[in-house]
Amino acid sequence: MMTFPLAPGSTIGILGGGQLGRMLALAAARLGLDVVIYTPDEDSPASRVVRETLVAPYDEPVSLAAFARLCDVVTYEFENVPAATVDSLIALGADVAPGPKALAVAQDRVSEKTYLNSVGAPTVAFAAIDAPADIPAAAQALGHPCLLKTRREGYDGKGQTWIEKLADEAAAYQTIGAKPAILEARADFVRELSVIAARGRDGETAIYPLGENHHEGGVLRRTVAPAAADQALFDQAERIALQIMDGLDYVGVIGVELFQLADGQLLVNEIAPRVHNTGHWTQDGCAVDQFEQHIRAIAGWPLGSTAALARVEMLNLLGEEVDTWPKLAADPDARLHLYGKRETVPGRKMAHVNRMRGPL
Ligand code: AMP
Repeated sequence: MMTFPLAPGSTIGILGGGQLGRMLALAAARLGLDVVIYTPDEDSPASRVVRETLVAPYDEPVSLAAFARLCDVVTYEFENVPAATVDSLIALGADVAPGPKALAVAQDRVSEKTYLNSVGAPTVAFAAIDAPADIPAAAQALGHPCLLKTRREGYDGKGQTWIEKLADEAAAYQTIGAKPAILEARADFVRELSVIAARGRDGETAIYPLGENHHEGGVLRRTVAPAAADQALFDQAERIALQIMDGLDYVGVIGVELFQLADGQLLVNEIAPRVHNTGHWTQDGCAVDQFEQHIRAIAGWPLGSTAALARVEMLNLLGEEVDTWPKLAADPDARLHLYGKRETVPGRKMAHVNRMRGPL
């Protein structure tokens, strides 16, 4: 049985080797903690800033056993890590945070919305779709247009398509790959917000100021934070985050994507049981950023201050936009965060820049 707080020199294991793992590892290093990455990918962004990387498939028992032995606590940097991997690690005696319930809820859009509603976090109306024949009645009930999404493994707007009218249904089902799906009513939102929150091992919680998010083609383009919001709106977001975390007995940082309706009501779009792209602004805008906060939470440390110190506009650099780095490096108001990816692929998240927009 691990004792918390983990002392400096302890080892954090991270499943996944992408940029979120890399930034978590950098934060862990600042706290005197070592990091071991587990990923199937050679030469991943995270692997180049950590003590050790195990490169193996997620179901490889010998490597999983070695990983469980090496790590004092295990976390993950993306929510599509196979549930069986986490189950194996727990069976091997590893402490995994956030736990398997959070992972299961976040991996399936129907389970996610069902869970959210069960703890009083409102969402759009929805229906589970197991076959194309389920769509017409559901679409009739939800109204057109409605949005068909794969239940699992969708991200950045992938695996989803709008159904504009009766008769679109069969084609829509084919478009998303003929997989189990969810049909969602359209959220008539005025803006998209997110709340990044954390919960410690003792149930202590911390909430960051809201971010206002702008997407292009389903991918996050920029976050403006702290978002203009009155106290009532912040309180509403905080209540939602607390309900979600408490119900999961959550440990770590969570990202909660929200739709703000014209009447001020917030609906939850989706949750990410990890640090979140819409929380990157905290690196240069807050006393303690989301990455350090996550490490603090899973290591059983006291949570850090979420106070905003500056206004920030976070911009994602996609694909070849990363080639503008020399200009950004010369801009005194731009804080550049490059992920060290070896290959520039169109649309791929390569880096982000936090533009300092002045004091609060
Ligand atoms: P998601 O992959 O669920 O995060 O969706 C990506 C983006 O699609 C969101 O950020 C919204 O801009 C939009 N979107 C998702 N679900 C809905 C919905 N039910 N109604 C309207 N827009 C949506």
